[in-house]
Amino acid sequence: MITSKQIIIKGLVQGVGFRPSIYRMAILHKLNGTVENNNTGVIINIEGDKKSVENFINDLPIRTPIASNITSIVVTDKPYSDYSNFEIIKSSSQSNEVTEVSPDIGVCNECLEDIKTQVNRIDYAFTNCTNCGPRFTIIKDLPYDRPLTTMSVFPMCDSCKNEYIDILDRRFHAQPVACDNCGPQYSIDTKGECLTDIKTVIERTCSLIENGKIVAIKGLGGYHLGCSTFNDKTINRLRIAKNREGKPFAIMFKDISSAKEYLHINEEEEQVLSSWRKPIVLLKLKKKISNSISIGLDSVGVMLPYMPFHYMLFDSLSVNSIVLTSGNISDEPVLISNTEAIEKLGEISDAVVTYNREIYNRTDDSVVKVINNVARTIRRSRSYAPSPIELSINTEGIFAGGAELVNCFAIGKGNQAILSQHIGDLKNLETLEFYEESIERFSKLFRFKPELAVMDMHPDYLSSRFVEKLDIPIVKVQHHHAHIASCMAEHKLDEKVIGISFDGTGLGDDGNIWGGEFFACDLENYERINHFEYIPQPGGDGVSKHPWRMLISYLIHYFGIESISNYEFLFNDINPNEISTIKSIIESNLNCPLTSSAGRLFDSISSLLGICHNATYHAEAPMQLESMANENIDEKYSFSISHDISFKSTFAEIIDELKSNICIADIAGKFHNTVVSIIVETAIITSNKTGLKKVVLSGGSFQNSILLKKAEQQLALNGFEVFTQSQIPSNDGGIALGQLAIAAKRRELNRII
Ligand code: ZN
Ligand code: ZN
Ligand code: FE
Repeated sequence: MITSKQIIIKGLVQGVGFRPSIYRMAILHKLNGTVENNNTGVIINIEGDKKSVENFINDLPIRTPIASNITSIVVTDKPYSDYSNFEIIKSSSQSNEVTEVSPDIGVCNECLEDIKTQVNRIDYAFTNCTNCGPRFTIIKDLPYDRPLTTMSVFPMCDSCKNEYIDILDRRFHAQPVACDNCGPQYSIDTKGECLTDIKTVIERTCSLIENGKIVAIKGLGGYHLGCSTFNDKTINRLRIAKNREGKPFAIMFKDISSAKEYLHINEEEEQVLSSWRKPIVLLKLKKKISNSISIGLDSVGVMLPYMPFHYMLFDSLSVNSIVLTSGNISDEPVLISNTEAIEKLGEISDAVVTYNREIYNRTDDSVVKVINNVARTIRRSRSYAPSPIELSINTEGIFAGGAELVNCFAIGKGNQAILSQHIGDLKNLETLEFYEESIERFSKLFRFKPELAVMDMHPDYLSSRFVEKLDIPIVKVQHHHAHIASCMAEHKLDEKVIGISFDGTGLGDDGNIWGGEFFACDLENYERINHFEYIPQPGGDGVSKHPWRMLISYLIHYFGIESISNYEFLFNDINPNEISTIKSIIESNLNCPLTSSAGRLFDSISSLLGICHNATYHAEAPMQLESMANENIDEKYSFSISHDISFKSTFAEIIDELKSNICIADIAGKFHNTVVSIIVETAIITSNKTGLKKVVLSGGSFQNSILLKKAEQQLALNGFEVFTQSQIPSNDGGIALGQLAIAAKRRELNRII
């Protein structure tokens, strides 16, 4: 029996080799018809034997490309058209073609097999196919064709060409297709000597790593620095070389089973770790690895191999893990140029492993943390960017500049937001250049012309300054409103909600520094319902590096300047002269902006418990506080909620417990519970006042597992519907999405002033 169906597939189905895979399935099932892209997804017209059509439909979710993400399949009957073959119809609309930029995809199992069996690909480290390999990192412009990628300098050999033009081949239209005879090659540069044979490159790299040396290795989106996981001396050398005192390093494990030996990995974590995106996943340690990798933390960032080279390296290495951290100095962007790498990384490493294909778009390894069984993106870059985020609102022509410290920008195309890869701290000159260059590249790649720009209210953010120079209408958005809107956009929420935003900093509209905020808000606007009590921040922004200074300020605020002498036991490690200086800064109210920041509160408690007085990297104090906390404890401290939220009794009770030598882990646990209680109680008060039942949580502090997990659970127990971030970072990397959504909404309502 013959049947005729139309199938509409939605989701991430463009730019991932979707149509050729449909073609191959149709040929396999001996069916005729067409497949084409349109604005909403992929449309398939299919005709043939009824059973075959059914099998074809059943195969759709299973046999389509790994990087695609089907969100819906709708099948309807259609009149019979008597197609004589199956055809891919070229998209006619330009605007819809432009969002087809696939992120990079970790090497697939079939390609790994080819490396062992295919004559022209034995040990060939650039083996890839339509299901895997580099994408965004090599694309210069659209259409996505080899001449417009950094593969353009490698003419295909006849054998690769035959695969490339054969629609039934796994490498049909795989733009980076290559083999040992025609593609890029690795080399190793050891102090002036350059060796090119891949076997030698692998052997040398292994022996260097095994002998306690540091090797720079070119990855997919930038260089890495690698060394032994077990050699503290080498790791410390790497810290000094990178000018990275305390920040944790990531580790690459050979496979999931070797990772399980050292780390607690639950089902969800295993799935993320092994997914085609191969991000760094933050995992709890089961067994100690080294003293120097993640100092003071109970977790470490772990990833699995994603390039053929990584697999080949572990095949020869005598160990099952290596430190693999981004190849940069301090806060500079990760290096991508071979010359620069040899010059800069060559100096701090013992060898540089490189290859002769250019990385065009820089991407860092993405970072994910599973909290409450949901994967949360912490850093969105390699293999995530530039996949669009579907929104319920028209964003066409809107440019969102993002925040400053953890920058990422966004552009609006139709109903989509396209977020840049993680850019970094714009205060670093090279990073600011990377920001400007990436904006230019996104505009070209996605055929984007900005008509409306969004900036943070903070006029001194370098992103704000960039936006102000654009000479187009500007929308200014409050930082914490943007955090909440970012989470709302991710969940396609377009209504009034209770928004709770906790983070380190952000300019409020009263000129103070906000960060412990309770809003009743929608996408357009917000009302500030309550906030953490204002505390002077001695010395301004710099205080985030010195939690003890903020602690002094809390103590003076709550217990008076005279009381500090009673608390000397808290500051044994701090120079008394410095303490006097901070006291007098606070007393004279010199450069002491007021802050309601949750980040500063967590900093102060971390210092109060003697965990971290001075931070060597962003958010070190709260991260160590979380690591230390006993999350199985149920008690909490008292607090008071009135026109603001005061922690006076919290501090008093903690100090009493410190004096009675209660264990730090329990105090840290009880402090987390206290903040969770404040969240729940304030949500209840706000709900009683407004009738709102949906709570949106966002801001960098919600990367804290204990806080987010308990807040989600407790709010749900109290009848709230809770929305938290997963695809988009809740830190400042998500700000651009919120800015975009707010501007889009205000434009829709005609309320752009
Ligand atoms: Zn492959
Ligand atoms: Zn070839
Ligand atoms: Fe923030």
